[in-house]
Amino acid sequence: MTNQASTTIKFQSGEQIPVELHKVRIVQKLFLKPIDERMEAIEKGGYNTFLLNTKDIFLDMLTDSGTNAMSDNQVASMLQADDAYAGSQSFYRMEKALRDVFGKQYVLPVHQGRAAENIISQVFIKEGDVIPMNYHFTTTKEHMELNGGKVLEIYTDEALKIKSDVPFKGNIDLDKLKGVFEEYGKEHVAFVRMEASTNLIGGQPFSMRNLREVKKIADANDTMVVLDASLIGENAYFIKKREEEYKNASIKDILLEMCGYADMVYFSSRKVSSTRGGGIVIDSHDLFLKMRDLLVLFEGFLTYGGMSVREIEAMAVGINETCDDTVISQSPSFIEYAVNSLDAEGVPVITPAGALGCHVDAKGFLPHVPQTEYPAGALAAALFIISGIRGMERGTISSVRDENGEDILADVELLRLAFPRRVFTLSQTMFMIDRLKWLYKNRELVGGLKWVEEPALLRFFMGRLTSTNDWPQKLIAKFKEDFGDSL
Ligand SMILES: *Cc1c(COP(=O)(O)O)cnc(C)c1O
Repeated sequence: MTNQASTTIKFQSGEQIPVELHKVRIVQKLFLKPIDERMEAIEKGGYNTFLLNTKDIFLDMLTDSGTNAMSDNQVASMLQADDAYAGSQSFYRMEKALRDVFGKQYVLPVHQGRAAENIISQVFIKEGDVIPMNYHFTTTKEHMELNGGKVLEIYTDEALKIKSDVPFKGNIDLDKLKGVFEEYGKEHVAFVRMEASTNLIGGQPFSMRNLREVKKIADANDTMVVLDASLIGENAYFIKKREEEYKNASIKDILLEMCGYADMVYFSSRKVSSTRGGGIVIDSHDLFLKMRDLLVLFEGFLTYGGMSVREIEAMAVGINETCDDTVISQSPSFIEYAVNSLDAEGVPVITPAGALGCHVDAKGFLPHVPQTEYPAGALAAALFIISGIRGMERGTISSVRDENGEDILADVELLRLAFPRRVFTLSQTMFMIDRLKWLYKNRELVGGLKWVEEPALLRFFMGRLTSTNDWPQKLIAKFKEDFGDSL
């Protein structure tokens, strides 16, 4: 067996270069607009990258959600979709794929990941329960709290460090997990949640060994382990790359073993398989029945769950492709290349490279911008102005205010540059690295942001801000001095 676990290939120079192991057959035209037009666009969008219009964007690195490239086989499968309210053949094909890959018997389809969280939280969380986990995800936490639960993040000391060489920063701290059962009693622990490739702390994976120990502790306390598998393929890839015992294992076997340590697995197929939708898979018939009625109420009949049959077909194919080493390694290989190139030049990024994207540490990048002036948001706006690249703020703008109206400062201020699967090429990646390096050299020109219109709920989505002074004009002047008429 060739056991090619990565698409990164050694060149004559000794350099490790990620190579696209696919060919491009359908393309979408992109525009790189002049800097003055980009400036106009960000002003119109209230310095909030969520409010930009894709016609003004060159590389859209906002998210991997629903933006992965589909394969030829996925698109082809959509033609055989079987339109039926109940009993569609498309559903049975997807059910088989999910059983094969996740190794669980019962399948509940939902319209996207957060819908799975809604159902699981309603069925399994009661007022006053706690839910220990490696780290929260935004929608997960909201659903748990809506149902009276309290999220306990019991990550290891390493998890929030920007620079690290610890390979599994997504691990749960096992002593803290035992402590949770001692403190609250097992009857008040709804379940233990493990999130594969922990999204909000830089796409950092957990190890198989950690998951195995979590399962033992949970079993000893008669408590379920629930696995958020939205980024499970990438986590499996990191287990293969970073955990000695698994270096010769196939992704498929690693996935099966991971799911074997969970009593229930749920996922967003916007991430797992490039289509809308999601699902819950489980072996217990009793628990399946408990969730089934809510599924029919909130999502749709059991054989479509709010998805179109075309999406169901594409999901079935996409889930199987998640087990393909070269498909699953594509995005982490490009991220690793970007992270290592930036790190080598001293640009502060989260290390080691994880899944989902390249995470730039805005506090380290802009130490002169106080957190009350939103360094991650300012960095996202500045990068868009100088490059047309759209990233996502994951810092204090994405946080909330306390009862006195003061900002609750985020643990980390990150600019996330997502690498959806098989979307960007190496030269586009190099462009991103180049412009970030330029911005770092000129970082003292970047200032802060202040609110113009601040919504009370989820302000990061629709809120409008502006620059604290005329720093964008100074940044543009320097850009023109260095790049002339070039875009
Ligand atoms: C995206 C995501 C979700 C929610 O999925 P949606 O399909 O966006 O509703 C849940 N958990 C994790 C880890 C995610 O990344």
